[in-house]
Amino acid sequence: MERNSKPTILICLLILLALTLFYPGVSKVSEQQGSSAKLSPQKELPLFGIKPYLTKELKEPSSDRIAGPKLITFGGQIVGKLPRVNPTLITRGNPNLERVAITIDDGWRPDMRILSFLKSSSVPFTAFLIGGREVAESHPELVRAIKESGGEVCNHTYSHFVMVGKPREFVVREIWKAQEIITSLTHEIYPYVRFSGGVCDKAIIDWAAEQGFWVANWTVDSLDTRKGIRTEEQVNHIAENLCPGAIILFHFGGYNTFDVLSRLIPVLRSKGYKPTSLSEVLEGTPYRLEGKAKPGKHAEEKGKEEEGILPYRRLLERLSRSTKS
Ligand SMILES: [Zn+2]
Repeated sequence: MERNSKPTILICLLILLALTLFYPGVSKVSEQQGSSAKLSPQKELPLFGIKPYLTKELKEPSSDRIAGPKLITFGGQIVGKLPRVNPTLITRGNPNLERVAITIDDGWRPDMRILSFLKSSSVPFTAFLIGGREVAESHPELVRAIKESGGEVCNHTYSHFVMVGKPREFVVREIWKAQEIITSLTHEIYPYVRFSGGVCDKAIIDWAAEQGFWVANWTVDSLDTRKGIRTEEQVNHIAENLCPGAIILFHFGGYNTFDVLSRLIPVLRSKGYKPTSLSEVLEGTPYRLEGKAKPGKHAEEKGKEEEGILPYRRLLERLSRSTKS
């Protein structure tokens, strides 16, 4: 066998050389590079035939489009794709609509019954997912399952660190790093970010707005981060604090979250509320990509509570009293 191997290698090399010299496609391409000779590229190299198609699908900027509340994009670089918005801390949706938003945070130890329940009950919802920390980045299947179950996948930063006190570059990077992971899987960007525990200040709300994100907190806490709480207490607490446009806070790995949701949805419907997603309760407000003509109002400038806006200092006080989310 060893004796035969040298001539075999030589024969192979000769065949390769012959192919290189006489293969018509290759020789014509080198001719074309040297001159402006006309060539029908599709005939010679099949790749040229599909190249315009690839370019259209992957690179053409017009493939980005605003569809209702979100930006759909198949482009590579997503940083800077959202238009700058007015700095706003959203804590309630449109008070003129009988809708309430189901928002579910984090993604740690997710109870997958939540997703199948919401899907089978035809309840759209919004997930604020952590980009890193073993969530979206490590579990793309979770991101896809949320979207397939009717969820809007929104941004809960990459690290889930408390952002107050961090420099601008850090906060901006946290937003986009999480968004890149989410968008690589969903091809969507919703212009909403929720920070860890809902904690933010004026600077952070401003930086998020520069990047095209409204900060979205909540109206009612389901209390599913309180160990030992009973489902009944949670359902009653939510029912007592309901209002049109309310945004309800849950967690994928919260206490009794699945039980609370499965009991709450019929209660909401019996009271005439439509349980739905964040962007749906924001319909008719300026806080939608397609309807941002009206200016947002800054919490601090107003100094008093009004539609959907809570002064951030008061919010911070309230949050420091409640348990972390
Ligand atoms: Zn969180």
